[in-house]
Amino acid sequence: MTGVLEVQVVPIPLARLSPLLPPERVERVEEYAAAARQLLADRTVWNVSSTARGGGVAEMLHTLVAYAAGTGVEVRWLVLTADAEFFDITKRIHNRLHGVAGDGGALDAAARATYDATLARHAGDIDGLVRPGDVVLLHDPQTAGLARHLRDRGVHVLWRCHVGLDERNEWTEQAWGFLRELVEPAQACVFSRAEFAPDWVDRQWLRIIPPSLDPFSPKNVDLPDEEVEALVHRAGLVLEGAALPLDAPIALQVSRWDRLKDMAGVLEAFAEHLDGLPPDVHLVLAGPEPRGVADDPEADEVLADCRDRWRHQPVRARRRSHLVTVPADDLDENARIVNALQRRATVVVQKSLAEGFGLTVTEPMWKGRAVVASAVGGIRDQVEHGVSGLLLDDPRDGAQLASALSVLLTDADRREAMGRAAHLRVRDRYLPDRHLIEYVDLFARLIDGDLA
Ligand code: UDP
Repeated sequence: MTGVLEVQVVPIPLARLSPLLPPERVERVEEYAAAARQLLADRTVWNVSSTARGGGVAEMLHTLVAYAAGTGVEVRWLVLTADAEFFDITKRIHNRLHGVAGDGGALDAAARATYDATLARHAGDIDGLVRPGDVVLLHDPQTAGLARHLRDRGVHVLWRCHVGLDERNEWTEQAWGFLRELVEPAQACVFSRAEFAPDWVDRQWLRIIPPSLDPFSPKNVDLPDEEVEALVHRAGLVLEGAALPLDAPIALQVSRWDRLKDMAGVLEAFAEHLDGLPPDVHLVLAGPEPRGVADDPEADEVLADCRDRWRHQPVRARRRSHLVTVPADDLDENARIVNALQRRATVVVQKSLAEGFGLTVTEPMWKGRAVVASAVGGIRDQVEHGVSGLLLDDPRDGAQLASALSVLLTDADRREAMGRAAHLRVRDRYLPDRHLIEYVDLFARLIDGDLA
C-alpha cells in the first residue's frame, strides 16, 4: 500500500502559552506570528513525515502544527504510507545514521530503486496538493527523496533531520552516502545539533533547531494525583511482572521498542546491581504496543527480546521489574498514560545508545522529575550534568546507571532540586514559542532569498 494521508490537527491559540512565559517572550512570539501571517499570506506550509503516531517526530508535529495553525498561518501535515520493504530500508538508514548496522542489509542500487519508486508514487499524490511558492518541511530520511521533485516545481523545500550521531563511522558514512543526493536539492537543512550535520551541508543554509513540547497536551498537562493513580494501575498495562506498586519508588524508562533505546540494557543493569539500589525501588520499562507504530519494523523483535530476558532473570529481580505496553490505538489515552507514568516515577531513565534529541527526557523534566540519561547526542544539550539531571558518560555501563540511580533515589533534596532545575530548563529552552520563532526566521530567509 502506498499513498499520502493528511493528519487533521486542531489549531491552538498562542495565547494558551502566555501564562507560562515572561511578558517579553509573549510579545516577541506575537511579533513573529504577525510577520509569519504576512510572509505566508498566500502560501501553505506543509509538513511531510512517515507516521502520525509513535515517536518524537509525530509527538512534536502534533504540537507545532497546532500552535502554528493557531497563529492564522495555513499549515498542513501529510503522512506517507508505504509497504514493509520501504520501511525496512528507511529503518536501516535510521540505524546507520546512529552509527549501527541495523538489520545488516544493503543500501545499494536495489534499495535505492525501491526507495525512489515509493516516493515517486507519493510525489504524484503530493502534486495535487502543494503549489509552487509553498513551503514544504520534509522530515527525516523517509521523505528526503521528495526534495528534488518539489524544488523542480518551484516549491521551497527544507529537510528536517531529527536523528544523528556526534561521531562518524562506516555506518553513518554509508547512510549519508545514500542520502546526500536526495538531500542536496533541499534549500535548507535543519538538525537538532550542529555535530549531526554532514560536511557537505551548505553552512549558510544549515539551522540548528531543537524540538519543543506542549505543556498543555495530554502528554504533559498537569494531572490530579487520583488520575495518575487510576491511569498507572489501569488493567492490562503490565505485560510482564506484577501490578505496579502503590507507594514504592519507581525508576522509569519510556521508549519505543528500538534497540538504540537499550531497554534491555536497563533491565539487565537493574537486575545485576539490585543490591546497590534502595531495597524497595521498582523498575518500569514502558513502550507502545508494537503494532501501533507502522514505520518501526524492529519493535516486535525488541519487545520479545526484553520479555525473554525478563523471564530469565532471578525471581528477586522479576518481583521488582515490570514491562508495560501502552495501548497505541487511542493517541490521547496513550499520552495520558505516559504522562501518568512520568508523574508517578521517582526518577526517569533514558539509557539511549544514541539519540538525536529525546523528548522522553524533556517530558519528565517539564514535570519536575530528576533524570538519569546517557551523555549522547541531543541529550547532552538537554541536561546539564549535576544541575538538571545526571548524565552517564558511558551508556553501556550498567554500574554507572545503578550508582546514579542510587544517588538520586536516596537523596530526596538533591533529587527535588534537580527536578526544579529541570523544569526551568525546559521552560527556558524547549517550549513552542522559541521553536516557532526559529522557523519563521528561516522561512523569511528562504522566501526572500530565493524568489526575489
Ligand atoms: N511515547 C509514547 N508512548 C510510548 C512510548 C513513547 O507516547 O509508549 C512517546 C514519548 O512520550 C515521546 C516520544 O514517544 O513523546 C518519543 O520521542 P523521543 O524524542 O524520545 O524519541 P524517538 O522515539 O523519536 O526516537
